[in-house]
Formats: sequence, structure tokens, C-alpha cells
Amino acid sequence: MNTHKSPKAKLNITIDENILQDAKRVAEEKHIPISRLIENFLDFFAKPEVYCFKCGEKFCSIDAKLCPKCGWLVCPKCNVCRCGLDEDTAVAVFHMRRVYEDLLAGRVK
Ligand SMILES: [Zn+2]
Ligand SMILES: [Zn+2]
Repeated sequence: MNTHKSPKAKLNITIDENILQDAKRVAEEKHIPISRLIENFLDFFAKPEVYCFKCGEKFCSIDAKLCPKCGWLVCPKCNVCRCGLDEDTAVAVFHMRRVYEDLLAGRVK
């Protein structure tokens, strides 16, 4: 999440009308400005932060190393990647991670 304050910039974009209508309705229900949603998403897109599946530490995927064996991000705190998880957990994490990948239109890293 973006914590540092920088000046606001104008963003002029064209997106699917129905998606925008649905998003505006939900955003209004949740009292979240659309601009903040876009800001949050773009911040996550540029600098994805994830939680370690083992110890729960939050870390930035850009700074994290990839395990050469399993290809997953290695937690900088406990050093766990897929290799340190049991099979059932690894499968659950694999499917969960697909939500990120769908959202980001690619891999987290
Ligand atoms: Zn960890
Ligand atoms: Zn590994």
C-alpha cells in the first residue's frame, strides 16, 4: 500500500462501460472512491506485496529471491518457498496465487 504522499496526477482512461458501472455501484456501497481503488491496484501492480504462506511476513516481491528449484518467491524472513510446504498446502497456495495472476495479467514475479 502506498504510504508516501506525492502530488495527485490526472488519469484519463477508457474502459468497459459495464465494468465501470458495476465498479461504481460497489465502490459507492463500500464508500471507497474509484480513484483510490485504481491507485491501490496500480501500486500493487508496480510493486506487489505478498504475505509469506508459512510465517505471515509481508514482503515486496520485487526484492524477494526466486527459488531455483520450485520457482516460487522465497520469504526473506523464514526462507520458505514451495519446497518448505507440504503437498496439500502447496496446491492450495498454487490456486490462490492464480487470483493474483489473473488480476495482474501475468505472474507476480
Ligand atoms: Zn516466511
Ligand atoms: Zn523452493
